[in-house]
Amino acid sequence: MPGKIIIISAPSGCGKSTIINALLEKGEIDMQFSVSATNRQPREGEVNGVNYHFLTDEQFKNAIAVDAFVEFEEVYPGRYYGTLKSEVSRRCDEGHNVILDIDVKGGVNVKKMYGDKALSIFIQPPSVETLRQRLVGRGTDSPEAIEQRVGKAEFEISFAPQYDVVVINDDLNEAIEATGNVIKNFVSK
Ligand code: 5GP
Repeated sequence: MPGKIIIISAPSGCGKSTIINALLEKGEIDMQFSVSATNRQPREGEVNGVNYHFLTDEQFKNAIAVDAFVEFEEVYPGRYYGTLKSEVSRRCDEGHNVILDIDVKGGVNVKKMYGDKALSIFIQPPSVETLRQRLVGRGTDSPEAIEQRVGKAEFEISFAPQYDVVVINDDLNEAIEATGNVIKNFVSK
């Protein structure tokens, strides 16, 4: 049986990567992470081919030209991210479920493409104010950058009703468990 697609989207700072990594580490669910391509620079500690396939602008354009993407989006001005067909189809064909960490536009598009073969999950902060406080507490962003992220989060949260499931990340461990449970239920059907 071919594998299924699990789509995870969330505003930044909502614990999406932590939740995905925790579920992959637990290893209770047969699923593999689809490594996206991007033209952004690697952050410290990020590894090419593991976190992303880091491409130059030229390489990204070429990948578009040869129809290598399931979908791609300009998530930030000039910064492109795309799901590679090669990441998804091989794993699915081998019977593995594939988990995608993608933005809201990509998430809604992929759900439309795959229909019942895909489960889309939106991770949401308890409130926009909680997100603002988390970002302030993290201390890595300027007040302007925080307001920008909060504004983007409000835009992203407006997509939540288009997802199959919304998980509120109030308590991280509970959110990991809730996300794991909906995925387990979906892949066992
Ligand atoms: P970051 O630069 O923080 O790693 O990711 C920025 C945003 O790009 C996140 O919302 C992430 O989910 C999204 N993203 C990562 N890969 C893809 C992809 O392949 N397609 C789309 N549409 N968005 C992606």
